[in-house]
Amino acid sequence: MNKYVYSFGKGKAEGDKDMKYLLGGKGANLAEMTNLEIPVPAGFTISTEVCRYYYNNGKKYPTELKEQKETALKQLEETTGKKFGDAKNPLLVSVRSGAAASMPGMMDTILNLGLNEKVVEGMVEKTGNARFVWDSYRRFIQMYCNVVENMEHEKLEHVINTVKAKKGITQDTEMTATDWQEVVKGYKELYKLEKGRDFPEDPQDQLNGAIDAVFGSWNNPRACIYRQLNKIDETKIFGTAVNVQSMVFGNMGDDSGTGVAFTRNPSTGEKKSYGEYLMNAQGEDVVAGIRTPKKLETLKEDNEVAYNELIAIFDRLEGHYKDMQDVEFTIENGKLFILQTRNAKRTAPAMVKVAVDLVAEGMIDEKTALTRVEADKLDQLLHPTLDPKAKTNFKVIAKGLPASPGAANGQVVFNAETAVEWVENGKKVILVRAETSPEDIAGMNAASGILTARGGMTSHAAVVARGMGRCCVAGCEMISVDEKNKEFRIGDQSIKEGEIITLDGSTGEVFLGQVPTMEATLSGDFETLMKWADKTRKLEVRTNADTPKDARVAREFGAQGIGLCRTEHMFFEEDKIFAIRQMIISDTVEQREAALAKIFPMQKNDFKQLFEIMKGLPVKIRLLDPPLHEFVPHEDKDIKALAEEMGISFEKLKEKVESLHEANPMMGHRGCRLGVTFPEINQMQVKAIMSAACELKKEQNAEIVPEIMIPLVADVEELKWLKAKLIPVIEETMKSYGVTLKYEIGTMIEIPRAAVTADEIGAEAEFFSFGTNDLTQMTYGFSRDDAGKFIKDYMREKILLEDPFKSVDQKGVGKLMEMAVKLGRAGNPKLNIGICGEQGGDPATVKFCHNIGLNYVSCSPYRVPIARLAAAQAVVEESKK
Ligand code: PEP
Ligand code: MG
Repeated sequence: MNKYVYSFGKGKAEGDKDMKYLLGGKGANLAEMTNLEIPVPAGFTISTEVCRYYYNNGKKYPTELKEQKETALKQLEETTGKKFGDAKNPLLVSVRSGAAASMPGMMDTILNLGLNEKVVEGMVEKTGNARFVWDSYRRFIQMYCNVVENMEHEKLEHVINTVKAKKGITQDTEMTATDWQEVVKGYKELYKLEKGRDFPEDPQDQLNGAIDAVFGSWNNPRACIYRQLNKIDETKIFGTAVNVQSMVFGNMGDDSGTGVAFTRNPSTGEKKSYGEYLMNAQGEDVVAGIRTPKKLETLKEDNEVAYNELIAIFDRLEGHYKDMQDVEFTIENGKLFILQTRNAKRTAPAMVKVAVDLVAEGMIDEKTALTRVEADKLDQLLHPTLDPKAKTNFKVIAKGLPASPGAANGQVVFNAETAVEWVENGKKVILVRAETSPEDIAGMNAASGILTARGGMTSHAAVVARGMGRCCVAGCEMISVDEKNKEFRIGDQSIKEGEIITLDGSTGEVFLGQVPTMEATLSGDFETLMKWADKTRKLEVRTNADTPKDARVAREFGAQGIGLCRTEHMFFEEDKIFAIRQMIISDTVEQREAALAKIFPMQKNDFKQLFEIMKGLPVKIRLLDPPLHEFVPHEDKDIKALAEEMGISFEKLKEKVESLHEANPMMGHRGCRLGVTFPEINQMQVKAIMSAACELKKEQNAEIVPEIMIPLVADVEELKWLKAKLIPVIEETMKSYGVTLKYEIGTMIEIPRAAVTADEIGAEAEFFSFGTNDLTQMTYGFSRDDAGKFIKDYMREKILLEDPFKSVDQKGVGKLMEMAVKLGRAGNPKLNIGICGEQGGDPATVKFCHNIGLNYVSCSPYRVPIARLAAAQAVVEESKK
């Protein structure tokens, strides 16, 4: 018989932390904590296998489940000494979701389940606290209506507001037992009206409804979006578990409370527990941000014993899990319970600090530390902050909690849909909400920053923003947000939709206007981590850089050379474009050579600058690649202006422009094909490259090894033909300077035919560089310029799990790469192989490149540290296999 239900309680559990895929992260942790004798309320977990069964069998359950559930419930009754549905000594439970991957707040939870009119009466008698009991009951009905029955939150709120209005009060705290009782009555009437039946009184029915809802919530839109954004692969992780756990109450009175705490600071990583709690409240009050919570340290005054016990538990949990934890706790009548622990989400700076600190504390080794930092998140450390000098010229209009660091400015919008829409139209936005809910996730992702009026550092807005690396100021209580009228107010001042504000997610400040930002500076911990990464990795990390600025930034970030310099980007500079255009409209070789002679000294200087900045490191320069039409204007008025400037007739220029038109330029006259038609262009380029290197050798005795890269080769004959045209120019140039340099000629592998004939090409090349932008384009047959229009539909429909232009499609494009590596090295065992497509800075791609034996990756300057770390992680992961 299959086992679907796993119990835990009183220091014994049927599961443990290694059963995450079966019990979900939460279920596995509850079991593990129980085994560690941490005070966890008893319960049972229905496995993720049931969820898979449920979705694969038309929302039905395996037949054995019913009996196993009943047995577990009976055992829970025995462990707690309480009875489900019993008026005198009732067992109340929470029903919570929990998948193998953390998806905070994305799926459903129901608390206080097991209450009905009879139980409520009994509990009032037993506790003598009628207000607490009726409040709990109305919370349960409210959640049940919302989560299980999908009733509108506003309609339920309306019931409360009607009671409040009748009494002339505004706060929940002013509500009496009778008031909550009246709310319950109102809810039940509303339920009957909407559903045509009575609200379920039988706790068993309630439990079944709640379990259905939690399994159902796996596929709610926000959970689906969250999985997509966080690249949770449903082929590996599918389904949530359901955790049924006996309730403990943080709202039993003033000696009860509830909170969320991190064992270290989740923003900075500082080794100091950090948290928030509320006395006389339930968990959702802290997380939903409805009341602003107290700081964890003040718990010492409210209940010193519980505080000390909690801090001691933090140490035990960290010692056990060897990582910073995020802990939910409740105090019921003075007694502490731990409801949940998990590895804490943290900002990128905190990720780095905690990883380095844990090594210093002897908890983990350097290699483990490398795997504790999500390479992609390093981006956050490299992002700009506000310019402190410029900042003083702007008015701080409000201050909230510094929930997620970084700086962002943009136009104010008040709902997630507008945020998405405006960003799609090329605007930058700040999403301003009273409080965010998980439904806002797409808008939060689109926005540059998030500002909320309510909620603490552990509110959903704060947690989700930190995870996304989005700058966020939360709990900014001095603003009042009027989402309907699209404005927010601070006193008399009103800020309307479309106005620009700036957020400082590290201080919590909100500025009116667009405050200038500054480049990031990196901490010593970052350097330490990078040093460990460099010591560990095997892949070399280079950068794609076309300008001296890019090259300098990349060098500072640790680039070990240039893997791709797209020379055409130099051509667009004002001083060059005129001569380039002259070259393009030339009718004869002589005219073209005359124009090229003008470009030559400028190109030589460009290369000289790059070589100087990268002194001591290799530089790969690619010969002209794009189709020539990209360099000429296409509108009549612009053609006219250029014709005048060039002293030729409009008709002649127009005719030239039209002759350059191609139906499919991406597959047209570009790359080495241009070189075959106009070899003098490539000859000028290699002469400029070699002259620059020779001059530096003569002037500074600098040893430069120019690497000349030929793009878009499909057939070895193209390469042979071009080499025959270029080598004599290279040799002649060196001779003219009286200098001999080592140089290399290699090729991009970016056409499938090149990959499958890589043995032939390898024999003629000293290096390969995978141009995975073109290789993806040609392998998928997706136009690079048009794919954006439909790839998001493919991702939504899960036809694609990842955009292949962001992360290499390992199955298809990757197979061609693997084949090219093998064939290429068969043709030339010394072949040096790298990648320079945009995917070269994507961690998954970097790891793949390591696995198939590349020598280096090359990526944009800001992604260099990401690639360095990912390359090291590839080594650590390989050693674990
Ligand atoms: C590529 O195709 O991957 C590449 C790096 O070249 P480009 O993007 O310039 O075509
Ligand atoms: Mg290309």
